[in-house]
Amino acid sequence: MKFDRCRNLIPVMSIEGDRERTDSRRGKGIYDRLIATMDGFYRRHLMFGASVTVTKENMVSVLSDDFISELAKRGCRLIIYVEYVPMSAGTEDLAPSDAEREYLTGRIAELRKSRDGAMFLSFPGDEKESGGCFAAGRAFFHINSHGGAEPCPFSPFSDINVRDTSLREAVASRLFRELRSGSLLAAEHDGGCVLYEKREQVQALLSGE
Ligand code: SF4
Repeated sequence: MKFDRCRNLIPVMSIEGDRERTDSRRGKGIYDRLIATMDGFYRRHLMFGASVTVTKENMVSVLSDDFISELAKRGCRLIIYVEYVPMSAGTEDLAPSDAEREYLTGRIAELRKSRDGAMFLSFPGDEKESGGCFAAGRAFFHINSHGGAEPCPFSPFSDINVRDTSLREAVASRLFRELRSGSLLAAEHDGGCVLYEKREQVQALLSGE
């Protein structure tokens, strides 16, 4: 298995909470497959993590001690909490409010103090303390399922494909360079994701306008 040979790669699996919530978002049977995969990684002594999309609906349960203990028991050493960003119309109500974001930030601070041996990341919450948006190769970028290099999963625009080029060339794409040298990544915004809020401007950069 590639993960046995390449210990610098850390698989991160998307889980939305319990079986019901995970299967309702990801498809029937996905929760059981995730648990079986985690158990397999644990048996092989491989480090792995979980990524949880945080909505108004699952926030309390995915930040609960029960949920975190269940993942820890299975060997999960990293949890990335990703705030839901409404990419499709009609789902705006699922996005956490400012007060809920504050709760998320406070709970993650508690978890970092109380849980040894595990890492907790919040996305985009941690960006406030780290100088703004990390996207477009400033700290990372995203590769979609077709190979397109995108600034971030929440900014699904791409002008280069890693099937045709190296990662080094991808990170130096015109879109990424313009984003890093412009003001968008540090722009004022209402909270949540800056590039989602400024998506029309990112689209204009992509089109060369
Ligand atoms: S695009 Fe949004 S979620 Fe992605 S790194 Fe920037 S602010 Fe964070």
